[in-house]
Amino acid sequence: MGQPQLRVLISEQQIQQRIQELGKQIAADYPEGPIYLVGILKGACIFLSDLARAIPKPVRLDFMGISSYGKGKSSSGEVKVTKDLDLSLEGMDILIVEDIVDTGVTLTYLTHLLDQRKPRSIKIAAMLDKPSRRLRPVEARYVGFSIPDEFVVGYGLDYAEDYRNLRDICILEG
Ligand code: 5GP
Repeated sequence: MGQPQLRVLISEQQIQQRIQELGKQIAADYPEGPIYLVGILKGACIFLSDLARAIPKPVRLDFMGISSYGKGKSSSGEVKVTKDLDLSLEGMDILIVEDIVDTGVTLTYLTHLLDQRKPRSIKIAAMLDKPSRRLRPVEARYVGFSIPDEFVVGYGLDYAEDYRNLRDICILEG
């Protein structure tokens, strides 16, 4: 087996343009602020940073650590909270910000967990969606791009902790 190859699937320019659209749409959908953006570590941190600045109204940020994947490319099916939120969600409008919805196992678990904290609303913003892989029904209200069943890295997404700082979203081949 040779060195892994990277092929650009979604360019930096496409990503940034789409995030501006999402930011405006989110701001229009939430007439009363603030919006609580809950970023799922680590993959969503770069998307969350860009999305927060594309929303032209007050937002607050918090982070949750969840591990569902090991070091490889396949899901273990297990979800574990590795870092909990600092803020109370009671009565707030929550937007869970995730890198990618794949099987939907992580977001199903997380939505259920956060719902028990009595927010006013919970919606999901995902940079990427792989609808063909879904095992649990998850509705992401805001989706950057729907992609085919390929393993992608970059823009926050890793393979064994590498590639998160790529500006494009790339398919990892090989
Ligand atoms: P789910 O629970 O929806 O199957 O998994 C969601 C998580 O799996 C994502 O937050 C991400 O960490 C990981 N994941 C799913 N597909 C990919 C992919 O193509 N590339 C990378 N790097 N991670 C992925």
